[in-house]
Amino acid sequence: MKQIVILGSTGSIGRSTLDVVSVFPDKFSVLGLTAGSNTELLLSQIKKFSPKFVAVPQQGSYEILKKELTGQKIELLCGVDGINAVAALSEADVVISAIVGSAGLLPTLSAIKAGKTVGIANKETLVMAGDIVMSEAKRSGSVLIPVDSEHSAVFQCLGNYEKRSVQKLVLTASGGPFAGRGKNELEKVTPEDALKHPNWSMGRKISIDSATLMNKGLEVIEAHHLFGFPAEKVDVLIHSQSIIHSMVEFVDGTFIAQLSRPDMKAPIAYALSYPDRLESVIPKMDWETLQSLTFRKPDMETFPCLGLAYDALRDGGTMPAVLNAANEVAVQAFLDRGIGFMEIPVIIKKVMDAHAVKPASDLDGIIEADAWARKNAAKEIKS
Ligand code: NAD
Ligand code: MG
Repeated sequence: MKQIVILGSTGSIGRSTLDVVSVFPDKFSVLGLTAGSNTELLLSQIKKFSPKFVAVPQQGSYEILKKELTGQKIELLCGVDGINAVAALSEADVVISAIVGSAGLLPTLSAIKAGKTVGIANKETLVMAGDIVMSEAKRSGSVLIPVDSEHSAVFQCLGNYEKRSVQKLVLTASGGPFAGRGKNELEKVTPEDALKHPNWSMGRKISIDSATLMNKGLEVIEAHHLFGFPAEKVDVLIHSQSIIHSMVEFVDGTFIAQLSRPDMKAPIAYALSYPDRLESVIPKMDWETLQSLTFRKPDMETFPCLGLAYDALRDGGTMPAVLNAANEVAVQAFLDRGIGFMEIPVIIKKVMDAHAVKPASDLDGIIEADAWARKNAAKEIKS
């Protein structure tokens, strides 16, 4: 029986993880849950899965939970320190890192420093501090198993191949809800339009990132850190059916691709059960009804966020953290109707242009760059 901790259990990935766990009660038990502000859902998850440890960031939700859980044998913790403690529990076999955004950095690092097997969905952690995360994992012996579908695909395709046999990683992208549209059409799109993803049902932030193609940009940086390839060896292809989740091109001209229906339960289950595979996690592919698999280059002019992410990766140091923070602020402003969709990349670029890159050798420097970028992005939004 594997003991599972889920960081961000009330989110899209967190809920899908609990769906998988509930189908295999003989294989997994829930040791710890952490969540942000959805206390009601967290309470119902606690009732159903009886975790021994629960942590929330805010005092308000902590007080509500304390009252509701009086007399129960649950250790309830509060604040970032509480979440970090649940992330590092000695009894945990697998920690699923599914907090959204930069709030996931410290808890994920806490699990990694404790040498845990970490199913990593929180890509922002790798974008901000990939070098530090990977070297801490090396030091502690922590095993990182990607949950992001593209990286799970690459991980599975790479298998035990030597790095020198690999020509390129090819990350596929659905293209999001606005694929094929021109710049002019995108000026007036609303958050509701942008949240309607054609193939995947996801949290709000990543849904907007998918619409701008920033999600794919963050994934290029994520792939660089997880698999150790430079920017020019990580390509992106638009594949609107989301059946091929990514592929690896080898030096001999052959490719290995990973295919399935688009359902996050597949990579989540793989991370939970690795190196085994669980039975019938998602419905079988219906090959006969599949009309075609299509591929084309991304339109980097209409969707500049992808190019900005490549630039940040090439600049290195603190620039990816700046890209990430400016993006988080701009996406929130778009969701709050403070800026238009096409202003998202404009704001990120302005913040990146104003940033003097420093080496990303310590966490303090990264947190400082993150705070600097947030402040500057907010200033750009106001002006
Ligand atoms: P979501 O918004 O649905 O859920 C986020 C979770 O984090 C929630 O449980 C929320 O309560 C918690 N949270 C938010 N702010 C917090 C804070 N300050 N402190 C503690 N907890 C906090 O997001 P999601 O779509 O599940 O995505 C989670 C992560 O996984 C993101 O990094 C995303 O890029 C990545 N990811 C998601 C998908 C997907 O299909 N949803 C696919 C690939 C990767
Ligand atoms: Mg993905």
